[in-house]
Amino acid sequence: MTDSHTSSLALPDGQWPTLEPGWVWLCGAGPGDPGLLTLHGLNAIRQADVIVYDALVQSAILDWARDDAELIYAGKRGGKPSAKQKDISLRLVDLAEAGKRVLRLKGGDPFVFGRGGEEAQTLVQHGIPIRIIPGISAGIGGLAYAGVPVTHRDVNQSVTFVTGHDQSGNTPNTLDWDAISRGSQVLVIYMGMKHIGRITQALLDAGRPPEEPVAVVAEATTPAQAVLETTLANAEADIAASSLEPPAIICVGRSVLMRQVLDWQGMAKGEAPRNLDPLGRGRPAEQR
Ligand code: SAH
Repeated sequence: MTDSHTSSLALPDGQWPTLEPGWVWLCGAGPGDPGLLTLHGLNAIRQADVIVYDALVQSAILDWARDDAELIYAGKRGGKPSAKQKDISLRLVDLAEAGKRVLRLKGGDPFVFGRGGEEAQTLVQHGIPIRIIPGISAGIGGLAYAGVPVTHRDVNQSVTFVTGHDQSGNTPNTLDWDAISRGSQVLVIYMGMKHIGRITQALLDAGRPPEEPVAVVAEATTPAQAVLETTLANAEADIAASSLEPPAIICVGRSVLMRQVLDWQGMAKGEAPRNLDPLGRGRPAEQR
């Protein structure tokens, strides 16, 4: 950690909560870009004696920890199974009972496909006081960094967040893809890369159109962010032919078309918007 980190990153004046010894705060670190951490998150990182963090937490965020903070990695490594959930939860209990100021730092939002609820429940069951600090979930912030609005008035009145893995981590079989398919115009799929072929087939079988737009946003909000635009029919083959790797968010729905006018990162690099009216409204939006 460098001094410049510490000195340049003062919290704004105000009453910031104190992380007391024996407490565990569960905090979302956001999808990647360190700037998407919340101020409560920064306040927590500044105080923690111990930070137990996941694979998706960027090292630049951990650089803001105290010099003497203990950093404990609790994510997947080299394709090996992740640390057992029970072990992580009990480790948090042990650390808190040892009187540490404990921060559990997770990618995105801790309560969105992050098992934060399970960890928090275990802590409460053991009498450990907790605080929850939400984060920007990849399925919202990651899509925004790709220029895809997760809701858009002309496209969707609802959005469904789906996990591509079931509890066993193997297949999405336990999900009712027919109901999901009918239920909303836009689907945001987490952990969907491994089973993309089965997922897209299930959606096609449920009657979603083969030409429906799909965006795959890998490593969203990081310098390595890469976006693939495809369709439901072509997604599996296009992903296989691409170099995209997890973590990736997959968005299914016409909101993906808005990227043609909202790819703000491309525009910042000098690219022209591909289509000023991708949904074919035929008039400036504000004249509606
Ligand atoms: N709690 C996290 C999600 C954890 S599940 C959140 O709220 O974002 C892990 C999945 O999240 C990944 O498989 C991927 O689908 C998605 N994800 C997390 N970070 C991502 C990123 N930077 N870019 C793309 N997808 C990401």
